[in-house]
Amino acid sequence: MIGKNIVASTYADAKEKKLNAINPATGSVLEGDFFKANETLVNGALTSATEAYQLYRNINKDSKANFLNAIADEIAAVTDELVKRASAESGLPVARLQGEVGRTTGQLRLFANLIAEGSWVNAIIETAQPERQPLPKSDIRRMMIPIGPVVVFGASNFPLAFSVAGGDTASALASGCPVVVKAHPAHYGTSALVGEAIMKAVEKTKMPKGVFSMLYDDGYEIGAALVKHPLTKAVTFTGSFKGGMALVKLADERKNPIPVFAEMGSINPIVFLPLALEKQAEELAKKYAASITLGAGQFCTNPGLMIAIESPALATFKKALSGAIAAVPSATMLTSGIAHNYNELAAEVINDEKAAILGMSNLKDTDLQNQSQALVAEISAADFIENPKFREEIFGPYSLLVIAKDLVELESVIANLDGQLTTTLMADEGELKNYQPLINKLTDKTGRIILNGVPTGVEVCAAMQHGGPFPATNDSRFTSVGSTAVYRFVRPLAYQDWQQDLLPDELKDGNPLNIFRTVNQKLTKADE
Ligand code: NAP
Repeated sequence: MIGKNIVASTYADAKEKKLNAINPATGSVLEGDFFKANETLVNGALTSATEAYQLYRNINKDSKANFLNAIADEIAAVTDELVKRASAESGLPVARLQGEVGRTTGQLRLFANLIAEGSWVNAIIETAQPERQPLPKSDIRRMMIPIGPVVVFGASNFPLAFSVAGGDTASALASGCPVVVKAHPAHYGTSALVGEAIMKAVEKTKMPKGVFSMLYDDGYEIGAALVKHPLTKAVTFTGSFKGGMALVKLADERKNPIPVFAEMGSINPIVFLPLALEKQAEELAKKYAASITLGAGQFCTNPGLMIAIESPALATFKKALSGAIAAVPSATMLTSGIAHNYNELAAEVINDEKAAILGMSNLKDTDLQNQSQALVAEISAADFIENPKFREEIFGPYSLLVIAKDLVELESVIANLDGQLTTTLMADEGELKNYQPLINKLTDKTGRIILNGVPTGVEVCAAMQHGGPFPATNDSRFTSVGSTAVYRFVRPLAYQDWQQDLLPDELKDGNPLNIFRTVNQKLTKADE
């Protein structure tokens, strides 16, 4: 494993500070030296990305698709080494990481298919009407074009699927934008292995080398320099509210402000309707105990809030949930910082007189470090509404049950919620139609509304929306999961009365790429 920074798909020396990866379960230093980047490398990465952009944006769609498929192939070829290293660096189980390799390569192939098909550029053609009165109409043709170098911040909780070759990188490369990755300090070695796989794919498919760079840091300096660099055109981030908003501020303060797409977490409320609880209180408790504690609760879609109306069925649910949570073993968290935050915030809830403990894991592995124990607390709707701190994300195996006296109080809990990535309704068949006003209130708060499921487990597909009203993300018009994630990195360009042979193929007469286009207000593959 080579721990050097990567600038324009080439290893680059930087000797200022040596960095090492830590196994969060044991605290031991893992194999490999990595090196903090510096301003020269930041500049080199963005200069070469800008040069590569001029070539890469014009490379034909099939070659770009081959490149994405080649990255997937190179990652798949090192699956065993990657899974072993990612597990040592993150404390996540091998089976979960094997799944994550599949998700990562699957995402790359999804974007490869999207661009090979080609219609995603949203070509719109309005042909000229020279005879129109009182004024002739010009020939106007519009499509999406890439915006330029994108800086991607790797996420701690998905060392593969939301890191070096994760959804952000795959969608940026698919849209025609070069990528500069800021590797997450929680998994330097995993990042190095994936970086090497991308370099091999660049070489094999003869892509311009500046299309990929990756820099290391153990603090904020390099990330901030990347966001502030004048050649950066967009930024993606998944992590804390504090981190996301710091990057948004830096981007807004630039001479030429740029978009930051920040996914900053969510408490993903679940509303249990009365009949659903009455019919399946115990099953629901088991289902939710599993979802709350999956992956030590370190998912942006973790169900951190449950809301229900007081009833005898709710008492049965509480009892079953309490028992299920008590039986969940402790789990290693991703980093000592994340474990520290979780344990501190969980202790605050335990000590808060407004909240009561409903269930707590009593199985702690004392041989391992950075352990989290699952916690579920309960609070009255009135106290929840009065104390905004209970609306904040506690990243880990935690959830809060809010108990309302009636539907009016339940609706006022919803009204007091911030924007969310997901909301879920657990309802019995036929019950839902009586709750339209509640459903309307929930849709106003969320990017995805789920019926009778759990929010954990985000399908990567064309219809997925992973992005909700602030503060879940800073721009709810976009998604960071699924094929429409490409639209974060493009802008529309209209050609007016342009010479046919100089138009992009997507906009030429005769539709040489055979893509869907909107021609004179009709979606078609035909010419007109
Ligand atoms: P983080 O602190 O938000 O950091 C994520 C990345 O952004 C890191 O590479 C970090 O750099 C960088 N960064 C953070 N603040 C920055 C700033 N002011 N300037 C420049 N770069 C900055 O997230 P984390 O370390 O992964 O986890 C910390 C907390 O984030 C968790 O406890 C949890 O609350 C939250 N989190 C939420 C989600 C979610 O999906 N909801 C996912 C992961 C984490 P350095 O680390 O190098 O400093």
